[in-house]
Amino acid sequence: LGFAPASRAAHLEAERRAAAVPTPNSARNWLRTLTAEPHPAATAADERTAKFVRDKLQEWGWKAEIVPYEVLLNQPSAPPTLGIDRPEGMDLDLEEKPIAADKDSANSAALPAFHGFGVSGTASGQVVYANYGRPEDFKALEDLGIDVRDKIVLCRYGGLFRGLKVLNAQKRGARGILIYSDPGDDGYAKGDVYPDGPFRPESAVQRGSVQFLSLGPGDPSTPNGPSIAGAPRLPIDARFGFPLQEADAVADWEAKTKLKRAEYFATIPSLPIGYGSANEILSRLAGPGVPNGWQGGLPLSYHVGAGPAEVTMTVSNEYKVRTIWNVIATLPGAVEPDRWVMLGNHRDAWVHGAVDPGSGTAATLEVCRALGKAVKDGWKPRRTIVYASWDAEEYGLIGSTEWAEQFAADVDRKAALMLNVDSAVSGAELDMGGVPSLRDLVLESAAAVTDPRSGKALRDVWTDSKRSGWVASSPLLLADPFWARDGKAPAPLGFIPQMAPLGSGSDYTAFLDHLGVPSLDVGFSGRYGVYHSNYDDFAWMEKFGDPEFLTHATAARLYIAIVMRAAGADVLPFRFTPYADALRSYVDELRMLRARQVRKASAPAADEGFEGLAALADSVLAFDVDARKLDDALNALGRQDGSRPEKLEALNAALTRIERAFLMPDGLAGRSWFKHAVYAPGLTTGYACWPLPAVREGIETDRPELLKTGVPATTQAIARAAAAIRAAAAVAAQP
Ligand code: GLU
Ligand code: ZN
Ligand code: ZN
Repeated sequence: LGFAPASRAAHLEAERRAAAVPTPNSARNWLRTLTAEPHPAATAADERTAKFVRDKLQEWGWKAEIVPYEVLLNQPSAPPTLGIDRPEGMDLDLEEKPIAADKDSANSAALPAFHGFGVSGTASGQVVYANYGRPEDFKALEDLGIDVRDKIVLCRYGGLFRGLKVLNAQKRGARGILIYSDPGDDGYAKGDVYPDGPFRPESAVQRGSVQFLSLGPGDPSTPNGPSIAGAPRLPIDARFGFPLQEADAVADWEAKTKLKRAEYFATIPSLPIGYGSANEILSRLAGPGVPNGWQGGLPLSYHVGAGPAEVTMTVSNEYKVRTIWNVIATLPGAVEPDRWVMLGNHRDAWVHGAVDPGSGTAATLEVCRALGKAVKDGWKPRRTIVYASWDAEEYGLIGSTEWAEQFAADVDRKAALMLNVDSAVSGAELDMGGVPSLRDLVLESAAAVTDPRSGKALRDVWTDSKRSGWVASSPLLLADPFWARDGKAPAPLGFIPQMAPLGSGSDYTAFLDHLGVPSLDVGFSGRYGVYHSNYDDFAWMEKFGDPEFLTHATAARLYIAIVMRAAGADVLPFRFTPYADALRSYVDELRMLRARQVRKASAPAADEGFEGLAALADSVLAFDVDARKLDDALNALGRQDGSRPEKLEALNAALTRIERAFLMPDGLAGRSWFKHAVYAPGLTTGYACWPLPAVREGIETDRPELLKTGVPATTQAIARAAAAIRAAAAVAAQP
């Protein structure tokens, strides 16, 4: 897409040569080096990986530098403790056990079990089991007459972002929260556990951030700007852990920020634990048997409590402003130096991080090696390629968010798209998320790469897997009178392959949700039970994840095709018809949710506040018309040579603006950092996307007053994007 006939052949030849550069063995070597020691953000080992990446990039001809930030982070200042006080006393062992066959698993340098942005303190109380800790789980407890006030909540990982589990528990008055990995979710009920299989052994803990994300990701002590040295910062009390726990200081902070601390930060201690420890607690819970769906994989009948088990947990964190190190590297563009094609990947890991994020770093280093060589061999990217190796992603997307905040004006002006790679390989199944305007670029790139297992093109493997999951009888896809206009029968959508909508949980968030940069998130996944544990290491990858490192090399080839096409094409390879199709399916999803809600009579029978639905649908249909016209014009341009350079520049500039037009100036209600009208993480999911969030929130939270503002704000954003599409089409139509 986007190449004039005259430049296509030379490009494909350069791409073919670059695709031959990545090798399994080379990816394997990078992964061995990167996982040699635990390297969480702001540690000496983390800085060593930054220098390693920078030096390699320089060696390959990139202009590369370390860009540091000063950010607030916690690290455990003492190992946590967890004891059962009653019915009989016992201390639980929270350490991850070394495994003889895996020497990396025995290391004293690994941080013990803790949560990023967790709170220090001691908490005791009777235990209540709360399933996944979702709002509906707490509601079910209420229905059983179980109050979690002054209790310790025990819930399992899964379903929603862990920070929201803490929020849900503290909102209801719990004193502390233990989050464990249930064997039914990623342990022995799924298959053999490490080292016999890829799933989670009983002592393994899932570390992770419990930031609430309501303010947006990034350093919470600098909510309004980048965490550069000397930046204005909210006051920090290092004795108690951030944020402030002293009454005066809290009041002061709340007055300054107009934010209630407890709505934005953890206030109760939290700990991740393994299922060995959880078993000891769960086996000492009485009270009612659990509701449907709450039984996990441990060999006992689950009860909700409260008690009789009573526990005491102790958590010690040291909060400090610490240095982190992004590596930012560029290959300059020959024709459009001020337009960026970005490739990003985080580098910090909770422990060794072979999958998360080492596989992504290994694969993207292969990309950088290949692109560096392509340039040495004479390939001239039309646009500037920016490679970012982010730090402190695990704590809350810190490195990428602070950089995006510092360079927001440049990103707004220059960034054409962002390919985010987090865990590139935990298995062999291709997962793709991204905005619909990049779907066709991704599909044609995937058509150019062979899946080493089946011998088929990645594109076919991927679309076949989507098709097999597609429900042809869905009412949304039948001819639906709702979409009929001017007496014309609506066309059913039929099977349209789409990438997954992006929510949050990785470093595309600041770029897409805050700044409106079209983004992708692409990787290969599989049977992976050691997420954020000590056992996500090189030996696991060699034994289970990608023994031949073939998938690493395949991933690198796919990324090379995407980046080289995006950076090399005469016209940015965007297409908007898939966006129109996606918008229509998102509206249908909202209609379905709303209908269900009205049926359950939890919403007013009259569609209060949802009167704007017809206008919203009209804006989508108008967008559709404009999108098809622009796509036709772009397709026609792709068949002709000799476009004037000024026209190409104006067209690429106009195409770069389209995604930005979806940004809502005021952002989402109560979380204004999130500005995209189509994509945002769900308020109660944290990770999973709620498409058309300003509307979806009103429905999900049962607040019709949100619909009153959310529906028009969304309609206007779609209309603005359609206008931006027409502006691009007008340029495309010039001689
Ligand atoms: N990817 C990290 C996690 O899932 C960070 C997510 C976040 O803080 O947004 O824990
Ligand atoms: Zn990651
Ligand atoms: Zn992670």
